[in-house]
Amino acid sequence: MPVAMGNYDNDGKRSTALGSCMSALKWIPVIFIAAVIAWSYYAYVVQLCLLSIENTFEQIVFLIFYHIICVLFFWSYWNTIFTPVGTVPSNWRIPETDIEHIFHADTQDQQKRILENFAKTLPVTNRTLNGSVRFCEKCKIIKPDRAHHCSVCGACVLKMDHHCPWVNNCVNFTNYKYFVLFLGYALLYCLYVALTSLEYFIRFWRVSL
Ligand SMILES: [Zn+2]
Ligand SMILES: [Zn+2]
Repeated sequence: MPVAMGNYDNDGKRSTALGSCMSALKWIPVIFIAAVIAWSYYAYVVQLCLLSIENTFEQIVFLIFYHIICVLFFWSYWNTIFTPVGTVPSNWRIPETDIEHIFHADTQDQQKRILENFAKTLPVTNRTLNGSVRFCEKCKIIKPDRAHHCSVCGACVLKMDHHCPWVNNCVNFTNYKYFVLFLGYALLYCLYVALTSLEYFIRFWRVSL
């Protein structure tokens, strides 16, 4: 009797209409962040620098540093979102004939042997708990070390960290640097805006109260 390995027919793809609808909804958090950035740009540049600060030298200095940080912040965010995920090379894909053997194997040991035999030329060291070579049933590939299947992206992703809804992309091998830079520049952006506007923020509330 063949050993069960899950639903082999499920390739992770949804029907076209539902899939398009789901894809559109996934952009909501990204649009929200973009709207917050746009609003903060207006508040800082127009309301603070142009309308509230009277000293021209202070205005220029604040605006120059603000725009440098803003460009770096936006550049890293853009690259985190739009860098394509690292996918598994085609030579890790198991041929259909071997797939049939794996799915119809009588014992786990038999499956293990087929996978081990296929992976012997591949640079893979990680194993599952039962000592078998890691294999993705959905993508029908041997999983490279540190690769994981992302159900949102519908593919095995190299060095996958997590799927981040705020960038609508997997944080992975290809965009890890941009993601870390994005976090750093986001912090720098917030600190810069908070510290340079603090005096005017306090003044505003003193006058209002
Ligand atoms: Zn996969
Ligand atoms: Zn993903």
